[in-house]
Amino acid sequence: MKVAVIKEAAPGERRVALVPEAVAKLRAAGLEVLVESGAGDRAWLADGAYAEAGATIVPAAELASADVILMVGKPSEQTIARLRPGQAIFGMLAPLADPALARRLAAAGVTAVSLDLIPRTLPRAQPMDALSSQANIAGYKAAVLAAATFGRFFPLLITAAGTARPARVLILGTGVAGLQAIGTARRLGAVVTAYDVRPETRTEVESLGATFLELTSVGTAAGAGGYARVLTEDERQAQQDELTGHIARHDVVITTAQVPGRRPPVLVTADALKSMAAGSVVVDMAASDLGGNVEGSVAEETVTTENGITVIGAGSLPSTMPTAASAMYARNISALLLSMVKDGELAIDLSDELQAGVVISRDGSVIHPALLAPADDEPAQADPDGGTARVDGSAD
Ligand code: NAD
Repeated sequence: MKVAVIKEAAPGERRVALVPEAVAKLRAAGLEVLVESGAGDRAWLADGAYAEAGATIVPAAELASADVILMVGKPSEQTIARLRPGQAIFGMLAPLADPALARRLAAAGVTAVSLDLIPRTLPRAQPMDALSSQANIAGYKAAVLAAATFGRFFPLLITAAGTARPARVLILGTGVAGLQAIGTARRLGAVVTAYDVRPETRTEVESLGATFLELTSVGTAAGAGGYARVLTEDERQAQQDELTGHIARHDVVITTAQVPGRRPPVLVTADALKSMAAGSVVVDMAASDLGGNVEGSVAEETVTTENGITVIGAGSLPSTMPTAASAMYARNISALLLSMVKDGELAIDLSDELQAGVVISRDGSVIHPALLAPADDEPAQADPDGGTARVDGSAD
């Protein structure tokens, strides 16, 4: 079986689906590996290193001969045009946000496997959990970015030239990325407070040396599968109002809140930004073209408010650490691929809970249950009031 690694085409994407170490592992399992020339360049992984690990370096046109194409993000238009029936693609295809892509891949006769749908609570899926590996990187980088942007120190410093008090950092959302941001900010010496609608995260937050912030106006909002549920309009308003008072007392706010398949909730309103002291820094890790956790944040841009708050739209931080992110992603995607290979061929078994969780199209049809629900056609539209709309565009 031939497995190919594509050169990612999305603007700003610097990761690559396999690193040379992973190529060697697939070769050892008897697979042939093709790597598109220059695929690893932006992660400082040269074609030569892939060739040494046993890959064949090929131009893009030759990827058509592969049985399976591995990628990090979604395929470009050009890649889709080159796919042929019977081919399989593996990547983070974001089918809940972009169900139209799943339909196009199905129509092209392509077997599409989306790593971002992996059933994360299955113990055997953990080595394949790319959402977690990339969220860990993003959380680390968010804290480092905040520290580098902040005009003062994170740690308490006592020097002959004076004493600096430690920075007060607030982390909103304590899933994988939030916990890593807490750990990193703590290691840099900041005093950290963190909040989540899932109260079960309190012990994790406290074990990292941070204080858990409890809001009196919003109860627990744990949803299915360890994720948060969408808040009601009243809860959302109460949460924003109460958070504003806390945000005002912090130097740095890092937001990571997500609800799967929904627009990210707004946690930091324009009023909250106005209440912060000049020089404060806000990193919005949820910022994307679907919105973000911070009112007025712009994906991939840094804006400074009139009152001197730096707001960083940081929704794609893993790509800013491309070597580490690619190495981790490569382990995730090769573990998933190898778990689906039998006798040297891709052998999909939909009776397996893990495989049924990730295969979104096969034999010309979209087959994933989450994509077969009615009215899931449209990706979320920009939401001027910062609400939480479904990916089908309807609002709560
Ligand atoms: P996520 O990216 O979906 O969301 C990040 C955080 O935002 C979550 O903690 C969520 O509760 C929080 N959030 C959502 N809406 C909020 C709001 N209005 N206000 C405040 N916070 C809000 O989360 P994730 O990092 O992907 O993790 C989701 C869950 O999956 C966690 O329970 C995590 O422990 C679990 N998980 C389990 C495994 C495993 O069992 N092996 C692996 C990975 C993740």
